[in-house]
Amino acid sequence: MRTVSNRHHRDPRRRIALADRYDVIVVGAGLAGTAASYLLAKAGLNVICIERGDEPGTKNVMGGVLYRQPTEKVIPGWWREAPVERPIVEERLWLITPDSLVQAGFKSLRYAEEPFNAFTVLRVKFDKWFADQATAAGALVITNTVVEDVIRENGRIVGVRTGREDGDVYANVVIAADGVNSLLSKKAGLHGELPPNRVALAVKEIVNLPREKIEDRFLLNANEGATIEIFGDSTIGMLGYGFIYTNRDSLSVGVGALLSDFIRKGVNPNDLMERFKTHPMIRRLLEGGESKEYMAHLIPEGGAAAMPPVSTDGMLVVGDAAGMSNAIYREGSNLALISAKLAAQAVMEAHEQGDYSVRTLSRYNALLDESFIMKDLHLYSRTSRFFQRNSEFLELYPEMLADAAHELLSVNSVPKQDKQRKIMRRLLARRRPWKLVRDAVGALRSLT
Ligand SMILES: Cc1cc2nc3c(=O)[nH]c(=O)nc-3n(C[C@H](O)[C@H](O)[C@H](O)COP(=O)(O)OP(=O)(O)OC[C@H]3O[C@@H](n4cnc5c(N)ncnc54)[C@H](O)[C@@H]3O)c2cc1C
Repeated sequence: MRTVSNRHHRDPRRRIALADRYDVIVVGAGLAGTAASYLLAKAGLNVICIERGDEPGTKNVMGGVLYRQPTEKVIPGWWREAPVERPIVEERLWLITPDSLVQAGFKSLRYAEEPFNAFTVLRVKFDKWFADQATAAGALVITNTVVEDVIRENGRIVGVRTGREDGDVYANVVIAADGVNSLLSKKAGLHGELPPNRVALAVKEIVNLPREKIEDRFLLNANEGATIEIFGDSTIGMLGYGFIYTNRDSLSVGVGALLSDFIRKGVNPNDLMERFKTHPMIRRLLEGGESKEYMAHLIPEGGAAAMPPVSTDGMLVVGDAAGMSNAIYREGSNLALISAKLAAQAVMEAHEQGDYSVRTLSRYNALLDESFIMKDLHLYSRTSRFFQRNSEFLELYPEMLADAAHELLSVNSVPKQDKQRKIMRRLLARRRPWKLVRDAVGALRSLT
């Protein structure tokens, strides 16, 4: 096996040696790209991973929940070494109106113990650590380098053109791990520009806050973390939600919605974020915090129905680049990691056979179909379609729920049965009974 330097190559003037022909080119050192690079290098393949950011992690935006089990499928025991923030022990779901909050949640002390369920991470720290593991496994990770196109020979993809001088690089197979709105997939002709209803736009801030305040406000012990997903007034009727996740000494705070909804409503994402942070139910949690970083990013939307082909002659597409995201369960990192693992397996099989045609590489499609990924993404297509068509769930129903709770819990010397009748009258005045039933059945069917 080729020996490589144990550092990322950061000098933009450094030429990528044209003589270097690699087994695999991976484009993007996010979760998917680094996982594929790590696994393939570990298997003895000659891998180059090309990242446009100054360092892995600098261009990457995530709310911040990374799941233990899927990540372990790439590096067993990763969380013992990796820079993680807090293990998540509690997940809360809030439905807010301008002046009320209805909540549900789950807390388990089992999640506070090994082997843990999920952790918050800061991508700028985590991705750098992860890329170091790929480098140590033998992959060459090049940063500060933009891939601009694919190179074809006889119709087959045989390499990539980078923005560097003499920057064409060749390999048996290219893995496109360049994230949502993948340039490589577009250049390979796998899809065109993403329509605005197939992508969500999210903004995220990291708000510094002393750890004692975090633990007081979120009712946590030291080294415990919580997440809050916030629906309803957080997105003023647009399909999306806000979130607050606890890190060690900071909070990850964000809000996002379908791009087509931002356009339709003429809402500026930064204004939405300001409105979110100053909402009376949220402001108190952030009070005294110092905003440290501000980021915006797209998220693929629409599930399996919105995915491009994921294999072609000489190329596979993984993670967000392949549209793999399950927003309702806040999953994306796990889909990126597992799809990368399956792509690596397909590439190793192609390597053994010496055949990188789509016929052999489409083993990746079969592996995806057998895995939870495509099963979940098919279901998510239904969920996403249903909520895009039924905007009552975004504003009307949270308001109706808050009204009903307000009526029921306000002590005012009115008999409970009278209250219940009043609640029903008010519900039915805002939504016809058959529509309530139709919505409830539709929501249930879209989620199961
Ligand atoms: C606000 C927000 C919150 C989220 N919260 C969560 C969460 O809590 N949990 C969860 O599981 N998922 C979450 N997600 C989704 C998750 O972040 C993604 O699914 C995951 O990062 C996808 O990983 P990836 O490796 O496919 O893509 P990315 O992490 O986006 O990596 C792509 C990489 O490719 C590089 N690149 C792109 N183009 C080029 C090019 N032309 N040349 C060279 N390099 C290039 C980029 O710089 C980047 O490093 C969230 C997403 C957002 C936006």
